[in-house]
Amino acid sequence: MKSIIFVAPPAAGKGTQANLVCDKYGIPHISTGDLLRAARNNDDETSKIIVEMQDQGKLVPDDLVLKLLKERLEQPDCQNGYVLDGFPRNLVQAEKYEEMLSEINRELGYVILIDLEYEIAEKRISGRISCPKCGAVFNSEIEASKPKEENICDNCATTLIHRADDNIDTYKTRYQTYVNETAPLIKYYYDKNVLYSIDGNDSTENIFNQIIDIIENN
Ligand code: AMP
Repeated sequence: MKSIIFVAPPAAGKGTQANLVCDKYGIPHISTGDLLRAARNNDDETSKIIVEMQDQGKLVPDDLVLKLLKERLEQPDCQNGYVLDGFPRNLVQAEKYEEMLSEINRELGYVILIDLEYEIAEKRISGRISCPKCGAVFNSEIEASKPKEENICDNCATTLIHRADDNIDTYKTRYQTYVNETAPLIKYYYDKNVLYSIDGNDSTENIFNQIIDIIENN
């Protein structure tokens, strides 16, 4: 199947939707945020840069992200499509990604925008807890998004964590980074005729159904 790129401000639910889509179609969920978080523990120069940039809510340098992504896309499980979550984050990454795709003869696929206003996104951040193993995201402040058992992942029973960058101060920077660097991708992909927009204010289920509709009918 075609691959999917999610573009959305932080906390709009792109990680949750990516997981749902991957489960339904049996394709891998590739989150550059997760790839970078895994590389934080390496105790080398690269990991220091990642820790510094992630904890400030700024973008990690493009070369570093592109290298990690290329290694991941070369894995055999990516041959039948995948969902990209958190990549590309700027126009340079978008262009480099297309160069990568043309080398391996793949098309761009769907780009799905999940839009959400700052005020609503900010409210979601403080209760957000995620699974360090499978990437599932829950929210301890929102009834419908709580895990079944407090602080335990519904999917794989791993203890959930509150990410270091999920606090209001860092969130402001992350949202601003999105507006300045990532939002220009909306026009970029609209002009290429691959963009589909969804209102992030809708319920998780409704958003998911809209995504399925896009995939099944385009
Ligand atoms: P996310 O898990 O997608 O919310 O990303 C968390 C943090 O990881 C971001 O605030 C950035 O510091 C970093 N990050 C994730 N994806 C990228 C990317 N494509 N380019 C640069 N930095 C990224």
